[in-house]
Amino acid sequence: MITDALWLTSANLARVFDAIAIEGDDARVVGGAVRNTLMGEPVCDIDVATTAVPDTVMTRARKAGLKPIPTGIDHGTITVVSEGTAYEVTTLREDVETFGRHAVVRFSRDWQADAARRDFTMNALYVDADGAIHDPTGEGVSDCLARRVRFIGDPHARIREDYLRILRFFRFHACYGSGAIDAAGLSAVISAREGLRQLSAERVGHEIRRILPAPHAVETVEAMAETGIIEIVFAGVALLEDFAHLHHLTDFAAEAGDAILRLCALSCFVQEDVERLADRLRLSTREEKRMAHAFGASRGFSSDLRERDVRECLYRVGHETAIDAALLAWCRDEAGPEDQGWRRLIVALRTFEIPVFPVAGRDLLVLGRKPGPGIGKALRALEARWIASDFALTRDDLLAGLEASE
Ligand code: ATP
Ligand code: MG
Repeated sequence: MITDALWLTSANLARVFDAIAIEGDDARVVGGAVRNTLMGEPVCDIDVATTAVPDTVMTRARKAGLKPIPTGIDHGTITVVSEGTAYEVTTLREDVETFGRHAVVRFSRDWQADAARRDFTMNALYVDADGAIHDPTGEGVSDCLARRVRFIGDPHARIREDYLRILRFFRFHACYGSGAIDAAGLSAVISAREGLRQLSAERVGHEIRRILPAPHAVETVEAMAETGIIEIVFAGVALLEDFAHLHHLTDFAAEAGDAILRLCALSCFVQEDVERLADRLRLSTREEKRMAHAFGASRGFSSDLRERDVRECLYRVGHETAIDAALLAWCRDEAGPEDQGWRRLIVALRTFEIPVFPVAGRDLLVLGRKPGPGIGKALRALEARWIASDFALTRDDLLAGLEASE
């Protein structure tokens, strides 16, 4: 029984159940919400499974004054919005045929068949409106409580149906697992790993982004390297020690938990690696830039950097890149998470307020300079003097020494 979960007792969910579970149809919450509640983990989104077919869900939701949106109506999913909360309502399905990347499904009224097509026992748990838990595989609750990620049925067969499950297997272990990774699952991963090449870069990238920041990322990534998955997905080096080191810096600096920075620590050895990863994992332009800047700036860092160099670096690259770069350099260094030099450096990078260059082109025009490329050149020369003074020179100092700076 689940009784006290806020999402289960919410009036918004009750409205969805009341609208859909009528005239012989049933509805139950399924998947992540049930799993996470049993584990004591936070719940983000609520998936609902129902015997009602999608058209019926649409009609009933509308009639009850809810807002149904046919977000994935072809595979049976309607997003039902109830007082601002969105529920993904999906009709029970069973697989007719599978191709390793997608499946032909048919709608069904059979809870057992719906559970059998899901991936892991902990993901095939259902809760009805009264809070009663339904566990069609018979192993979902115990695996969930023991934090064991196990395939439903024969792992080899289940992976061949959908190769993304290789990465989901690692992802759920990284997020929720405890103890050793399931051995039967691992051996199936090894024999089926070539199938990963069929997956789109978007889908692979989506899973990797969720694996790398997870609580058990270190042991999971090690297992992914040992089973040959890293090589297939990244097609490059895996700097496992540096990755583990960065992970252990997270308590001190939350930025070390960022997926993109972790990816950089794990798989960037030379600048060209950034492009390879961006392509392999379909990084956004913003993500690729973040990685490129962090990697580029990290090469100049050491824990004994002078304070004025710290300030100059911050002025040139900004807070985000500077902190990223320092963490990257730290994780490549021998010094552990307790190292005072690195800690001081990170604190300095956080606290220094970046000054604004006090001279503008206008100031030079007022002094009689002619408009044109000479202005930019003069400004750059002044800025160099200003930086060299450790940002101490004022606007008046700089303008007074205008000739000398050229
Ligand atoms: P979270 O949303 O926290 O990632 P979740 O378990 O809700 O976790 P979803 O990706 O939202 O994960 O999927 C919902 C449910 O659909 C899963 O719990 C699982 O039962 C099923 N599912 C999703 N993807 C697959 C897949 N590739 N193969 C089999 N079942 C899947
Ligand atoms: Mg979900």
